[in-house]
Amino acid sequence: MDKIRMTTPIVEMDGDEMTRILWKMIKDELILPFVDLKAEYYDLGLPVRDETGDQITKDAGEAIKKYGVGVKCATITPNAQRMTEYNLHEMWKSPNGTIRAILDGTVFRAPITIDGIKPVVRNWKKPITVARHAYGDLYKGTEYRVPEKGKAELVFTGENGAEFRETVYDFECPGIIQSIYNKDSSIESFAHSCFKYAIETKQDLWFSAKDTISKKYDMHFRDVFQKVYDECYKAQFDELGLTYFYTLIDDAIARVIRSEGGFIWALKNYDGDVMSDMVSTAFGSLAMMTSVLCSPDGKFEYEAAHGTVTRHYYKYLNGEETSTNPMATIFAWSGALRKRGEMDGLEDLQAFGDKLEEACIDTLNDGIMTKDLVGLVDGMEAKAVLTKDFIAAIRERLEKKLAGVQA
Ligand code: NAP
Ligand code: MG
Repeated sequence: MDKIRMTTPIVEMDGDEMTRILWKMIKDELILPFVDLKAEYYDLGLPVRDETGDQITKDAGEAIKKYGVGVKCATITPNAQRMTEYNLHEMWKSPNGTIRAILDGTVFRAPITIDGIKPVVRNWKKPITVARHAYGDLYKGTEYRVPEKGKAELVFTGENGAEFRETVYDFECPGIIQSIYNKDSSIESFAHSCFKYAIETKQDLWFSAKDTISKKYDMHFRDVFQKVYDECYKAQFDELGLTYFYTLIDDAIARVIRSEGGFIWALKNYDGDVMSDMVSTAFGSLAMMTSVLCSPDGKFEYEAAHGTVTRHYYKYLNGEETSTNPMATIFAWSGALRKRGEMDGLEDLQAFGDKLEEACIDTLNDGIMTKDLVGLVDGMEAKAVLTKDFIAAIRERLEKKLAGVQA
């Protein structure tokens, strides 16, 4: 069989620990035998990030800007313990944060669902995609401990002389204080990314915040979304029969729980952090959560939502074979290749992305799965297998699909 042709490279970003092991297995067994892979390779493994003063991460981000599609393996975000473990020169920033800053994108997370794994919320029938604004607010906040009695003020000094000053609180005792900010440019890009992704995936878009309490801050988010929608996307939404609406976060949570799923829920940074963990847990497993970063100018970076699965890696280093779930990482590859195919008009490559995902789902539906999923399935016979056997089972089904054999 001829290998499937590519015309433009994708940006391949390797990573760390157990997911780095999975990465190679996936490439060797599920990609390279079938696709004439064109990829520009960046090793974002921690040793190379350290050697290059993290330049490699920036270069990878720029390459995604250039080519438009990237696929990334999970990477370690160093902490104090990693400084010693890897003898690092610096506590490098999270590569995801660095790449997000370069692409100015929004992260969309959606679960991979199968019939055998019933969401905790019984009425959820379709995946719920959480879109998290990954800039500002609490994550760029300034805060301190107020040690004694005194006055806290919020002051803005404008370049052209504007000045606002407001008392935050007249402290009669010690306490705490925090300030947060966001930028119009970032909120606008967030809105554009969300509307574009809704159109691309043909799903309704919900946006929620707390504008009843935060009458300027959250209200501004709401206004920006409405303006961007009215000016740029309303016509397309109408044409596709899609809906956009804003609702108070309290109401949104109630509606999400009562819904059937099948929509995108856009959230501010903190709300998105917390709600995406809730949604993924309720759907079953972090190992089944996909993640894609979309920039407002149409660049895409695919990855798994989980980390490097350190605990399994230490077992692997001890010579033990593990049953680590590769689903989300495989879907990062299938998503990136399909997107590349769409951008370059390569139908075979798009179809390959679809078939690879079908082969994965078929394998699970046949009751062959990794250990983490066996405990979650309901109403079917399931057998826990090692990662390599799981991947082999997917390959067998993929080969049949590519050869056009009906299962
Ligand atoms: P993690 O790697 O997501 O793993 C946490 C636990 O979740 C695992 O120990 C495992 O549970 C389970 N799990 C996650 N993915 C799994 C999979 N594919 N198959 C089977 N089980 C899976 O999170 P972490 O241990 O907190 O973080 C490890 C490293 O990853 C850290 O250095 C962190 O900086 C990094 N990280 C990177 C990213 C990213 O690159 N996007 C995201 C998050 C974290 P059991 O051990 O019970 O089997
Ligand atoms: Mg979180």
